[in-house]
Amino acid sequence: MTDATWRGGAAAVATLTFDVDAETPILAAGGKYARHLMVMSHQAYGPDVGVPRILELLADLGVPATFFVPGWVAEQRPGLAATIVEQGHEVAHHSYSHRAPTSMNAVEERADFERALEVFDAQGLEIAGHRAALWEATQTTLDLVAAHGLTYDSSLMGDDKPYLLGSDDRPVVELPVHWSLDDWEQYAFLPSPQIGSVIESPRKVLEMWRAELDAMRHYRCLFNLCMHPFLTGRPSRLVALRELIEFAQSRGDVHFLRCRDLADAARADVTLKQRNPPQLRVDPAVYPD
Ligand code: ZN
Repeated sequence: MTDATWRGGAAAVATLTFDVDAETPILAAGGKYARHLMVMSHQAYGPDVGVPRILELLADLGVPATFFVPGWVAEQRPGLAATIVEQGHEVAHHSYSHRAPTSMNAVEERADFERALEVFDAQGLEIAGHRAALWEATQTTLDLVAAHGLTYDSSLMGDDKPYLLGSDDRPVVELPVHWSLDDWEQYAFLPSPQIGSVIESPRKVLEMWRAELDAMRHYRCLFNLCMHPFLTGRPSRLVALRELIEFAQSRGDVHFLRCRDLADAARADVTLKQRNPPQLRVDPAVYPD
């Protein structure tokens, strides 16, 4: 069953996304952590152990995924991005350094954004979309995504369906995210730097994500699941992810798509809503920085 909307006849569309952050979020908290070997190995587990297992799981279940990779990670591990693409998945832009756009000025942000594009270009990767580090996009971020001709961004939370950003002549599709569909809030634990302090049961996480998927089928939404190989790549969490995908497949009305394919379908959908973030002017006398 197909139709002309972004859902293509499905009750809900599922995008499995993996942010291959590796060491970058830690190094963004301080270059000194490069000497902290437990922490560095905790992060290296993501690309080195998690990603191969995730690729095996996806191949086994026959579902596509999108891997958001910082340019620094692609540079440090040549061949990683190519391996992902060879298996039919998508590699997308996830900054160069994983420093949050909200922590940089416009000049710094542009340099970071473009440095990542140079790395992807040198590796022969065709990039269609972007996700801001920590989802902390600014207007500069959205302008860079549009200026470089990317099709989509996936950092904002203004809806639970794809929507359009920017001007009519150069629209960008937003594939919105949400904290409730992110493994970081469930599994991230590291005392220093403090990136999180939870180790939830994968059974609980599976129950929560299954309930959200069913509700999203009811409301005709985008189930945009954000995971990190250094977190979800751990054994019992991967088993839970397998069960989640099998559950979605058993429903029979959930389509799995790469973000770039969903963004193309969304762009062709004339019913898509435009939701530009409000350009708020705040009075510092009322709301000081
Ligand atoms: Zn990230």
